[in-house]
Amino acid sequence: MKIYSTLTRKKEEFVPIEPGVVKIYVCGPTVYNYIHVGNARPFVVFDTLKRYLQYQGLQVKYVQNFTDIDDKLITQSIEEGVSVKELAEKYIQEYMTDAEGLNIDEASIIHPKATETMDEIIAFIAELEEKGYAYAVNGNVYFEVTKVKNYGKFSRKNIEDLVSGARILVNKEKKNPLDFILWKNKKPGEPAWTSPWGEGRPGWHIECSAMIRKLLGETIDIHAGGSDLEFPHHENEIAQSESLTGKHFANYWMHNAMINTEGEKMSKSKDNFFTVRTIAEEYDLEIVRFFLLSSHYRSPINFSRKIIEQSQAAMDRLYNGKYQMQHLMGLENPASESGLEAEVKKEAATFLERFVEAMEDDLNTADAIAVMFETVKYANTNLSEASSRTSVTVLYDALMEMGGVLGILYREKETLELDVQSLIDERQTARTNRDFARADQIRDELKAQGIVLEDTPQGVKWRREE
Ligand SMILES: [Zn+2]
Repeated sequence: MKIYSTLTRKKEEFVPIEPGVVKIYVCGPTVYNYIHVGNARPFVVFDTLKRYLQYQGLQVKYVQNFTDIDDKLITQSIEEGVSVKELAEKYIQEYMTDAEGLNIDEASIIHPKATETMDEIIAFIAELEEKGYAYAVNGNVYFEVTKVKNYGKFSRKNIEDLVSGARILVNKEKKNPLDFILWKNKKPGEPAWTSPWGEGRPGWHIECSAMIRKLLGETIDIHAGGSDLEFPHHENEIAQSESLTGKHFANYWMHNAMINTEGEKMSKSKDNFFTVRTIAEEYDLEIVRFFLLSSHYRSPINFSRKIIEQSQAAMDRLYNGKYQMQHLMGLENPASESGLEAEVKKEAATFLERFVEAMEDDLNTADAIAVMFETVKYANTNLSEASSRTSVTVLYDALMEMGGVLGILYREKETLELDVQSLIDERQTARTNRDFARADQIRDELKAQGIVLEDTPQGVKWRREE
């Protein structure tokens, strides 16, 4: 598989450190509020990466943290009149609800919390201090960026520019304006932990470095997150971790592009259509997942209500294809033609091959979804009630395999619809066999359920009685 790495700014062949095992770390949410569609993008994209690597037979160790202590949590906890801990717990649960709706495979994700990694964070900072990379002033501990040879290289920032920019906000404790905080001195009323520098709490960057070392080791395969984290967050993670271990921190860095929400005006202050939760009130979140995967993860995308509606219409086309194939597979007496079978098998294999090719090319889910549409189109054109069950099944399985990798197309028709459809099919068979008594019986049975049948040129349609 080829992965575009931010480290080298090019597509590289992906080779895991340990054959067959992939260690991935994704920067997770700060749990002070509901996540919005922009937050959801990396979670869905890298969940899809994980699914794809697993599909290729690799074992994936996947860590995505919860930042459960920082300034935003403290401010919001005061706003909501609850403790920081209560606030964090609430929004971790809300995150889980959204993640389930987005079909993120939570069962195989490890979620460390900053507040539960405190010993490792403190030990990490103490080691940095010992090695001369960090210094303490009045209970605050800073990382000294000038001690790192290549600071700024990862995010391709010009250090002089950054320094002159940072001078505006001068902090007298810092030796260099770019030095960043590792440990914050406790302010009145804030949650705090005991440390060698006094009571306080960690800065944000250090938690990811400490969690990675604790849960995945000194060097990992893939570090991922939104492109807004390249600087300073990821630059700082590299500085801390590589200074401490003297080793390469992450072999591949993946960053998803941002979502532009300009098209969606926040007309009513409370009716914020950006949060995943608000979208879920009106739409199935599978549509959001589909929307997020229909563009390549490195392309910036627009988001609006109109786009969600277009995504829904597109998903409907995939589902119609799926249901039609299920209908054909469920026929009592399938045709026994075999002429088409060989061709259909070949086509199904080609579709799968092209799907994999797209995913191999830096996780090109946009092209992969296009292959799914082609599969449905091919099925609609070439399959009918005259097709053999094997022909239908082979194409159906290919479609569902692709859907499984992307985490979409997993819903089944409502049971009621399925029951009605199978009764209609049975009635058709009865009529073909001139078993009119059974056909009438089925019509009456359905009528008793409030279902009315209509014979149309396109076949039998059903509707609920008004
Ligand atoms: Zn991070």
